[in-house]
Amino acid sequence: MNLYQDLYQFFKNENHVSQKLNILLDHSKDQSSYHPSHLPEVVVFPENKVDVIKILKYANENKIPVVPFGLGTSVEGQVIPIEGGISMNMTRMNKITELQPDNFLVKVEPGVTRVQLNDSLKEHLLHFPIDPAIDASIGGMVSTNASGTNSVRYGSMKDQVLGMQIILANGEELNVGGQYLKSSSGYNLTNLFVGSEATLGVFTEITLRVYNIPKYKLTALVEFTDLISASNAVVNMKKRDLSIERVELIDERTIEAINRYKSRNFSIAPYLFLELGGNEDIVHHDYELAKEILIEEGCLNIQLATNDLERENLWEIRHEVAFAIKSLNPEKKLMTTDVCVPLTVLPNAIKETRKIMDHSNIECAILGHVGDGNFHAVFSVDPENKSEVGLYKKINEQIVDYALKNGGTCSGEHGIGLGKIEYMYKQHGNSVSYMRQIKSLFDPNNIMNPSKIFKK
Ligand SMILES: Cc1cc2nc3c(=O)[nH]c(=O)nc-3n(C[C@H](O)[C@H](O)[C@H](O)COP(=O)(O)OP(=O)(O)OC[C@H]3O[C@@H](n4cnc5c(N)ncnc54)[C@H](O)[C@@H]3O)c2cc1C
Repeated sequence: MNLYQDLYQFFKNENHVSQKLNILLDHSKDQSSYHPSHLPEVVVFPENKVDVIKILKYANENKIPVVPFGLGTSVEGQVIPIEGGISMNMTRMNKITELQPDNFLVKVEPGVTRVQLNDSLKEHLLHFPIDPAIDASIGGMVSTNASGTNSVRYGSMKDQVLGMQIILANGEELNVGGQYLKSSSGYNLTNLFVGSEATLGVFTEITLRVYNIPKYKLTALVEFTDLISASNAVVNMKKRDLSIERVELIDERTIEAINRYKSRNFSIAPYLFLELGGNEDIVHHDYELAKEILIEEGCLNIQLATNDLERENLWEIRHEVAFAIKSLNPEKKLMTTDVCVPLTVLPNAIKETRKIMDHSNIECAILGHVGDGNFHAVFSVDPENKSEVGLYKKINEQIVDYALKNGGTCSGEHGIGLGKIEYMYKQHGNSVSYMRQIKSLFDPNNIMNPSKIFKK
């Protein structure tokens, strides 16, 4: 068997199948994580569902691993083909196939990116709100159940996916969900596939919810004396049911890193990035209430963005936090913890994380999607330095253990991939054996993204 020749026969076109070293290298790693790279044997570029079916049927008959590749921004090694085989680049399947503005839904191929989607929704005054702080493909975002800054208002990808067309490992087409907003009919297979990290099949079309662009937004940077007061303010704003679009927390050391990276001079303190959105009168009303709560909780300063440019500048600061940390050691890669805990546990979880980092003398950014109890510690690691990687994994483990002991999860939005396999077992106990049986049901030859999520 010659993998390249066999796949070439399907397409008779070098544009669809490649073994060029630079292309293999591009598909051997993700964009920024510390996980070691591994070359695929071949990279394929399907352009439609039929291509995907042909490739999967062939791979299944010959028991060849297949790893779909979106934009490679996932951070737990999800796209690394550690068993070789086929990397299936999905970026050419990038059509928005149907938009139903009055039903607030859109159908897209998996290679459509969130920025591309939002650009084309704008003229209908609609938007797709999930924002993982970087551009990413919809297929990849479904696969990791991504979320980000807007999840306090809109939830995560599982709350957006209404239906999907999936090609299973044996080439069979499966259609799950539909175009409806609710259903009590049968098992929820749609949500089973969301977050499956390519271990169950390849998504070829996804039906998503879309929303009105908020008519009015008010964005503020709020300085606090301490993390506990900042977190309490968020809990109290949520209790009052204010129209929060996004609320993000960073700690003192993180703003120090931003000051260095962006040549700014923010006071060294914890900050909330707060955005309210909706009808103008409601937003103003809610802002007055928010201000009362923020002041009651002892905030030191509220800096309002007065126009779109200032708003964008504020969010740019928040989105560049990871790069601020990376800039200290540009040659290194990023390791990112991603735990999610009950809201009231969050302040202590963040404090504990900072203590662990300071104790080990590690420079890191801590940023929280504080409205969800989800936070990250981001630090730079030299992937070639085994003892450094070992030490940092131990630190990661301490943060995850704290979260698990306090009712949390080992991943709020980044997924398991290669980096968090052992925590799956700590978190889910015997549920993992049922998950494995589901995997075997859909992919008995274990060709779909093998060696990810589960122990071998
Ligand atoms: C600086 C930075 C900040 C980030 N911040 C956030 C954040 O705030 N929130 C968040 O949720 N994430 C965040 N991420 C992680 C990342 O953006 C997400 O994991 C994203 O969802 C991955 O999309 P992608 O297109 O890059 O997918 P890839 O990385 O290419 O793939 C991810 C997974 O999807 C699978 N996949 C891709 N296409 C398909 C398909 N068609 N069918 C089945 N499986 C498929 C792949 O095999 C892989 O398992 C961040 C990443 C970076 C680098």
